[in-house]
Amino acid sequence: METTAEQSLDVLFRGEGIAILGASTKKGKPGYQIVENTKDAGFAGNIYPVNLTADSILGFKCYKSLEEIQGRVDIVVMVLASNDCVEAAKAIARRKDEKGDVAAVIVVSAGFSELGTDQGRSREKALLDQLVPRGIRVVGPNCLGIIDTYHGISTNFDIGHYRKGGLSIITQSGAFACSYLKWATPGSLVGLNKFASLGNMSDVDVVDLLKYFGEDERTHVIALYLEGTRQGRALIEVAAEVSKKKPVVALKAGKTKVGSTAVASHTGSIAGNFETYQGVFRQAGVVLTPSVCEFYHTAAAFDKMPLPKGNRICILTVLGGPAALCIDELIASGAVDLAKLSEETKSKLREILIPAANIGKPEGLIDTTPSFTEEQHYEVFKIILRDPGVDGVIYLNTPPIFIDEKALAKNIVEAYQSFPQEERKPVISVIGFGYSVPKLRKTMEEAGMPTIEYPDIAAKVMINMVRYSQYKSRFSKQKVSVLAPETIPTEKAETYYQEIVKKTLTAGRKLLPEHEAYEICKAFNIPYPPTQIAKDWKEVEKASKKFGFPVVLKIVSPQVVHKSDVGGVIVGITTPGDLKRAYDQLLANVKEKAGDVVIDGVLVQKAMRKGVEVAIGGLKDEVFGPMIMFGSGGILIEVFKDVAFRMAPLDQEEALLQIKDTKAYEMLKGIRGALPSDLKALTKLIVNASNLIYKVPELAELDFNPVLAYPDGCVVVDARMVLK
Ligand code: ADP
Ligand code: MG
Repeated sequence: METTAEQSLDVLFRGEGIAILGASTKKGKPGYQIVENTKDAGFAGNIYPVNLTADSILGFKCYKSLEEIQGRVDIVVMVLASNDCVEAAKAIARRKDEKGDVAAVIVVSAGFSELGTDQGRSREKALLDQLVPRGIRVVGPNCLGIIDTYHGISTNFDIGHYRKGGLSIITQSGAFACSYLKWATPGSLVGLNKFASLGNMSDVDVVDLLKYFGEDERTHVIALYLEGTRQGRALIEVAAEVSKKKPVVALKAGKTKVGSTAVASHTGSIAGNFETYQGVFRQAGVVLTPSVCEFYHTAAAFDKMPLPKGNRICILTVLGGPAALCIDELIASGAVDLAKLSEETKSKLREILIPAANIGKPEGLIDTTPSFTEEQHYEVFKIILRDPGVDGVIYLNTPPIFIDEKALAKNIVEAYQSFPQEERKPVISVIGFGYSVPKLRKTMEEAGMPTIEYPDIAAKVMINMVRYSQYKSRFSKQKVSVLAPETIPTEKAETYYQEIVKKTLTAGRKLLPEHEAYEICKAFNIPYPPTQIAKDWKEVEKASKKFGFPVVLKIVSPQVVHKSDVGGVIVGITTPGDLKRAYDQLLANVKEKAGDVVIDGVLVQKAMRKGVEVAIGGLKDEVFGPMIMFGSGGILIEVFKDVAFRMAPLDQEEALLQIKDTKAYEMLKGIRGALPSDLKALTKLIVNASNLIYKVPELAELDFNPVLAYPDGCVVVDARMVLK
């Protein structure tokens, strides 16, 4: 029977027969550990170790070859020297042709494309050529394979039996994911559902697994460790779909060029630019965490806790300083508000807590002081969690010596669990340092209540939960896809801009001069000032008369990219006398600073009134394709790098979120009494620019800097477009 690609993935986690090529009798060797770990994981199916000389391993009968195995083999694990893998693949292919059983192969062995050599790459190709055309899915090479704690399977030579839970891991680094699980083990911090280490991703990749885990009911949260991908768009589209159902928490390696190289030489994939990942992950609702610690705890908290229904968080603390640090993080995020406690809550708390306790200064903070007994915790937690103005709680305590850790944990857990499942709110606890209070932490964790050592990380985890919850409700309310349907320019407009592009390319040029870039803008409803190119003084005069003062003059030269750098822009020209002086000055400046460059003419442009200067850019990313950038404009853009990215095209709602990712948003809201800018117009411009970069295949880059934003509308006053 033919198996589809997705059925084969299912076989990975549900297979009944596993053959291990390269099984070993020596404890500690991967070929031995895989047999042992699968056994320990509680695998109920058949384990077939294949080993030339041994009779049995760990009580399982050994086979000399794959052919010898009579029973059904769904999965083959290869733990062979890389030189032997292609021959082994041929044996699998023969078996598939004869018996039709093998559906998936996990290649643990290394020595393939990750080496970065021709030999490695061709070996990988030879391996795949035997398997993939036969409908066999390949995991790896250079990986730790899979674990399914419910089905009791582990092809991982490091980790066998693991505590069950709702977390599923997809990882490009087996070592990283194993570290996570080992870190979580002693304190019962994480319960695992499924684990997939993908290595080189020669066939089965992140996109396949994300889709599969997205549909897997036992998976409550997906933790993704990513180095790079060759399928950026597909990844984001699948991630966006999955995020509507369950959180995806991601850690991305390769923030720096050097880091990317380390990654690339490891798995041979494209690392991509971190800022673009940041933007597109937000767009798809993926929670991208900047640090390992935040990643670990965020994934764990999502598994254990319900989502907050709003962003109003209450801080219940026994500790002053750590609470302050926590509040700092929450407020700085801009995503969370401190909860406004009801009068009823406050008066009930006053009845229980000592008079020295601080209730509500600032709003949302309850500092009990250390005289806060185990029993009081039960009542206090119930009162707070019942307050309809509270969406979540961060609790901070390092209990003093006279507190009974177990009794304390019991009171907290019971208070939390006294609420029916659907009424529960997330509680994140900051408890002690390391294992200073092991009983308290372990008891709480075992009861499903996350405990975190650091107040700032706890705050970040809560922020992540709030942000994700917002994403989820946004998409459940209105069914929009991440990629907004493009607004297609009219056919006439399309022919028009295609002609401009053709003309430029035929002339052997890549850079479109500003006035021609505006012609393309016109086709996409992007506003720009009245502009005209003038060949000589006479034409300058004429154009200025037509537009009316004030005007701006700019040099037009294919060799001058940043016009101001060579004195090639003169603004604020208000009289005919100024105009002549400015014209002469402009040409003199350029001659002095740029030398004898080709001058196509002088641009006469109507001067626009002052506004907030922002920048909009577009580019074709190697991984994600057409992208749109938004940020603070002006010449300091490179210095401050206050920019946010999204995949193009997008809709206005997403464009607004993009704006909010930057500091420019603060300016646009209106600082120091200035009127707020017209965000409707600005988001529309971003949407149109995103359509432009998406629709024009010859376009490599576009750059609108600045765009002037006003309380009423906005306008592009400098446009640069570069063709491929
Ligand atoms: P550059 O090639 O140096 O980026 P620009 O065309 O962006 O040249 O002009 C430099 C600056 O002049 C802009 O940042 C903007 O502040 C101002 N400017 C340019 N054109 C206009 C205009 N039409 N109205 C008002 N200000 C303008
Ligand atoms: Mg500019």
